[in-house]
Amino acid sequence: MNRADFPILNEKVYGKPLVYLDNAATTQKPQVVIDALNDYYLRINSNIHRGVHCLSQLATNEFEQAREAVRRYINAATTQEVIFTRGATESINLVAASFGRTYLREGDEVVVSEMEHHSNIVPWQLVCEERGAKLKVLPFDGRGELMISKLQELVTDRTRIVAVAHVSNSLGTVNPIEEVIRIAHDHNVPVLIDGAQAVAHSPVDVQALDCDFYCFSGHKMYAPMGIGVMYGKNKWLNEMQPYQGGGEMIRDVTFEKTTYNDLPFKFEAGTPSVGDVIGLRKAIEYIEGIGLEKIAAYEQELLTYTTEKLAKIDGMRFIGEAAHKTGVISFLVGNIHPYDMGVLLDHQGVAVRTGHHCTQPVMTHFGIPGTVRASFALYNTFEEADALVNAVMKAKTMLS
Ligand code: PLP
Repeated sequence: MNRADFPILNEKVYGKPLVYLDNAATTQKPQVVIDALNDYYLRINSNIHRGVHCLSQLATNEFEQAREAVRRYINAATTQEVIFTRGATESINLVAASFGRTYLREGDEVVVSEMEHHSNIVPWQLVCEERGAKLKVLPFDGRGELMISKLQELVTDRTRIVAVAHVSNSLGTVNPIEEVIRIAHDHNVPVLIDGAQAVAHSPVDVQALDCDFYCFSGHKMYAPMGIGVMYGKNKWLNEMQPYQGGGEMIRDVTFEKTTYNDLPFKFEAGTPSVGDVIGLRKAIEYIEGIGLEKIAAYEQELLTYTTEKLAKIDGMRFIGEAAHKTGVISFLVGNIHPYDMGVLLDHQGVAVRTGHHCTQPVMTHFGIPGTVRASFALYNTFEEADALVNAVMKAKTMLS
């Protein structure tokens, strides 16, 4: 689908056509996004918000239009709820630090799931340690599905926030976040959703979900690296302490006392990555132009096709067999180390990721050092799925 829009896909590695199946780590960029970045630096590069001069106003205008594009994309109620960050990691760190500083007290509890990316574990550990709070874990089962019934017991009157991934990056599981949110809200507990692996693969409506925070990165959705979004409900953002101090986020500064700027600027200290924000807008428009429903349906076909073919390989073991998955396939073959498999696939032009995928607790759960992970984007093809399957078979023969 729309493969010709992505110049890098014409590259060859070791003289072989590139089969790029590491999209959960980062997606490739369409020409329109690359052009938007170029155009920004060629035509209007300048610092935003403070300038009266023409370029600054043009850049500010584009920057704020990008905020509106993000608002529309996730259906936030207002642009005040859309905070630009450097990525999902920074978004979660922002919430953990600011929310923690404002609401967490000694003996309070934070709930995360066992399948979280480290960036939705460590920021909470840091703030729990600082505030004397406790981190509790919602487990998953052998198929890689959250044991949602246990959430009822885990959420107590000391729980201050629940933080869960929309989609697991190492298992591919699409979590029942609507149910997580409903259970938490029944106890008046807010919910943060880590949407890093979801936003490029299915429509997200933060108002329909009623989540309190939703975090994601641009680079996993065809936008440049170094840009991310933290969506937060107005009521929390108004109360929460700022994350970082500096320019932009203030109203008045004296040595005695500083007052803070309105939302969203209160959480955007310093000069932002303006060109990357503009690139993010182009990526959003690009996705919207194709349609997320269409992308989701196509990636599901690729997932089913590839899973069925891989399943025929003797010794194939899938890690993550949830009923509801996105285009992420984690696997092991016999007792071949995932790293060895990854290297041999690479030599055949097939780029996959190997290792723990920043989810060490998931690997501990299964008692494995890591997995081989193939992950799809809209531009992958059935021929590439075949190339993966053939490369795995060849690697298996060589390593057995
Ligand atoms: N959360 C999930 C589920 C992820 O897959 C990732 C990256 O792989 C992150 C968070 C962190 O994203 P970033 O490295 O873009 O900040």
